[in-house]
Amino acid sequence: MQINGKAVEACGGEFFDVKNPATGELIDRVPMGSENDVDMAVGAAAAASGGWAATSPQQRGVILYRAAGIVRQKKDELAVLLTREQGKPLFEAKNEIEGFANVLEYYCGLAGSLRGDFVTVPQNGYAFTAKKPLGVCAAIIPWNMPALIMAWKIGPALISGNTVVLKPASNTPLTNLALASVLNEAGLPAGVLNVVTGPGNSVGEALVRSREVKKISFTGESGTGKRVAELAAGGMKRVTLELGGSDPMLVCDDAEIESAAIGALRGRFYNCGQTCTAVKRVYVFESVAEEFIKKLEAGIRNLRVGNGLDGNISVGPLNNLSQWEYVKGLVTEIKEKDEGKVLTGGKVPEGCEYEKGYFFEPSLVVDVPRDSRLLNEEVFGPVLPVVTVKDLDEAIEEANNTRYGLGASLWTKNLDRIRTGCEKLNAGVVWINQHLKVAPEVPFGGVKESGMGRENGPDALLEYMDTKTIMLKV
Ligand code: NDP
Repeated sequence: MQINGKAVEACGGEFFDVKNPATGELIDRVPMGSENDVDMAVGAAAAASGGWAATSPQQRGVILYRAAGIVRQKKDELAVLLTREQGKPLFEAKNEIEGFANVLEYYCGLAGSLRGDFVTVPQNGYAFTAKKPLGVCAAIIPWNMPALIMAWKIGPALISGNTVVLKPASNTPLTNLALASVLNEAGLPAGVLNVVTGPGNSVGEALVRSREVKKISFTGESGTGKRVAELAAGGMKRVTLELGGSDPMLVCDDAEIESAAIGALRGRFYNCGQTCTAVKRVYVFESVAEEFIKKLEAGIRNLRVGNGLDGNISVGPLNNLSQWEYVKGLVTEIKEKDEGKVLTGGKVPEGCEYEKGYFFEPSLVVDVPRDSRLLNEEVFGPVLPVVTVKDLDEAIEEANNTRYGLGASLWTKNLDRIRTGCEKLNAGVVWINQHLKVAPEVPFGGVKESGMGRENGPDALLEYMDTKTIMLKV
């Protein structure tokens, strides 16, 4: 844990293990925080709040910019730590660490844009608006992209003058702790960023309930998001919820089939399929289905599964035992119920021992019935179902037939189809001829049960500030 810029032990003196999902080895033990630790961290953040809010956005930007520079210098060691606790291949971990620095730098660039407004009103009146930080904000992080998602939350929160208490996922606290140390090294005043490690249902809930916490930015499963929203409502707190997704990919008969197959391959198997905006369902026109599936299958067979620290690995292990059990169970059920044809993969690789690596072969499943769990649950793992459709109307209807609405991609060269897709696909992000791309400059978030609020882009700043109106009659 880190409170007031220092590493501290938990009040109860207990620890929990962080293990490497590729080998089962113990990497480190971190303090098992409790409600008392949350109180201390929130107290530190509240005490630092006035001083931090009184600095200029530019002064805050200088510190964040310095932190981004240190992160770039330490990229290799941070990436190794991320791969060891999360499992992703080293090249993906390096991308993610760079992404952390990119997001901080983007918000440093926006420091000068934080300002209110001036309005004239009838009958000789004037109104001013001032943008005020909210105070103490909570950031609750999942295990799939702990570094990038940390930046999405602390970047806009800190630059706009808030202080933060961050709760990492219990499977991946080490990279978050290391990044928080970098911010301290860069000169962040004590108490501005605090980290409490420990279980979601105790530490997470205590943080959401805490009276001093004015805003919660949560990324995780939709079910947990609903619980967070319910608790936050009790204190009338602001929330940003970035939740699950079941992103569809729609491939038309005029699409570049080679690019679409590569898009599906990267979109599904990046981070071992554990990305909120992964391609989770493909709807391909019947007339090009055979060609698309053939290319995709060939690409999947070329993927190399293994320990993310070994060279030339394209897919690491699943992050944890429960995800591994879920994916194995789901594919076994599909086979037993004859719910689709597994063209490749569909099993644990040879020699993979229980609890010594949560590996699963990248899998392609075709002829999947519409009511299959594979199409109706958020499958956070390396399994891709492909369904054939007769036209765009059917593809859009199937794509929208979900409780989620995070992302969706449409693959076509036809302008009319692009216009229809942009209008009718019910998702927070619609990609055309690409999938998965996110950028610090572009707002990101979902509709329906994929959440509320936006991260990234200038819109995210508004999620961390209040508008105060001052009316003046002279
Ligand atoms: P969880 O919802 O299980 O956990 C997310 C975080 O919430 C963890 O830090 C967890 O702590 C904590 N938590 C758990 N229970 C509570 C609670 N009752 N109150 C407060 N906090 C709690 O999600 P996962 O970690 O399994 O992450 C995977 C999910 O995240 C997927 O659904 C994925 O789609 C989604 N996601 C969404 C993104 C988006 O931007 N829309 C981006 C990335 C992921 P602990 O680890 O201790 O349990």
